[in-house]
Amino acid sequence: MINITLLGATGSIGKSTLSVVDLHPDMFNIFALSAHTSWQEMLKLCQTYQPTFAVMTDAHAAEKLSNKIQGDTVVLAGAQALNTIASHEQTDYVMAAIVGAAGMDSSLAAAQAGKRIMLANKESLVLAGDIFMQAVKDNQAELIPVDSEHSAIFQCLQGGRSGLSKIQLTASGGPFLHAPLAELGTITPEQACAHPNWSMGRKISVDSATMMNKGLEVIEAHYLFNLPADCIDVVVHPQSIIHSSVYFEDGSTLSQLGNPDMRTVISYAMSYPDRISSGVSSLDLTQNSPLEFYAPDFDKFACLRLAFEALKKGGSAMGTMNAANEIAVSSFLNGQIKFVDIAIIIEKTLELAKHTHLNTLDAVIINDQDARAIAKEVIQAYA
Ligand code: NAD
Ligand code: MG
Repeated sequence: MINITLLGATGSIGKSTLSVVDLHPDMFNIFALSAHTSWQEMLKLCQTYQPTFAVMTDAHAAEKLSNKIQGDTVVLAGAQALNTIASHEQTDYVMAAIVGAAGMDSSLAAAQAGKRIMLANKESLVLAGDIFMQAVKDNQAELIPVDSEHSAIFQCLQGGRSGLSKIQLTASGGPFLHAPLAELGTITPEQACAHPNWSMGRKISVDSATMMNKGLEVIEAHYLFNLPADCIDVVVHPQSIIHSSVYFEDGSTLSQLGNPDMRTVISYAMSYPDRISSGVSSLDLTQNSPLEFYAPDFDKFACLRLAFEALKKGGSAMGTMNAANEIAVSSFLNGQIKFVDIAIIIEKTLELAKHTHLNTLDAVIINDQDARAIAKEVIQAYA
């Protein structure tokens, strides 16, 4: 039996993970679960899965859960408790599916404890890629991507990387791929969150609409596959059937295809190097609409340009960009700024923030906090 700690259990990736676990009750045991505020949902999950630990990072929610919970589950409160369950000696695999920078510390704790990390929280790599990859190496942790593009590349590289010339991430282009630039000013959060192919949390849905998600993924790929920005390419593919490709010097291209459903990616991370059923149906290529491919428009999707620039600049630029993006996206979701302002806020924050090299986790955290403060000031001056 494999003991799983599921961080971010109430989210989109969390729920999909549980649905794969449901298909394989003889293989996987839910050892620990975490959520932020949604204690009622957590209560139901505890009734179903009877985990050893349930962590609510919000103290008030933890208290509510403690008062209601029955059975042997121990309720823990606060962000520090995430590290406890991520590194617990009885934990075998950690699904890191918290959204945003809040997921970094616990992903790192899993790496330091030498676990199999099924990494959905791409922000861990964007913020602290060097530190995180070093911790994986030093502690013989196993890092399996839980992002459809990176899982595709990981799968395509199972035969080795001899002669690799570049990797190519596919991007759906989000809901506004064909919308004229002039129309982007009036987009509402609901429109931005209505992704044509993937059902996801609100923050990553907005990131997909601005293509910042692809920008974060370019940085994620840089660290996961140890490749420079020049060897990472992006192609827009609205049908999301080809999940990404690897190009080789001999003219070969390997791609991974499938219906757009994260359960395939999650089940692969849980069963690697084997494959198990995920609940996702097979592709029927004869039933698919024609597959289209376009070069990305870096003017319309300025966030993608900013991410490539931040990766090339290195150091604190990536963390600064991520922090400014998190603040800008939540301000957009609150109705404080317009959709098109997101990229402007990020660019302005990058101009104002100090550029440094981040060698320690403390430096990463301080940079993240500073960048958030600058982004908030920029928004106040702007909105
Ligand atoms: P979501 O918003 O649906 O869920 C987020 C989870 O994190 C919830 O369980 C929530 O309780 C928890 N959480 C939120 N804020 C927290 C905080 N401050 N402290 C601790 N926990 C907190 O998000 P999601 O769509 O499932 O995405 C999770 C991660 O996976 C993100 O990093 C995202 O980029 C990545 N990812 C998601 C998808 C997808 O299809 N949804 C695909 C690839 C990668
Ligand atoms: Mg992705």
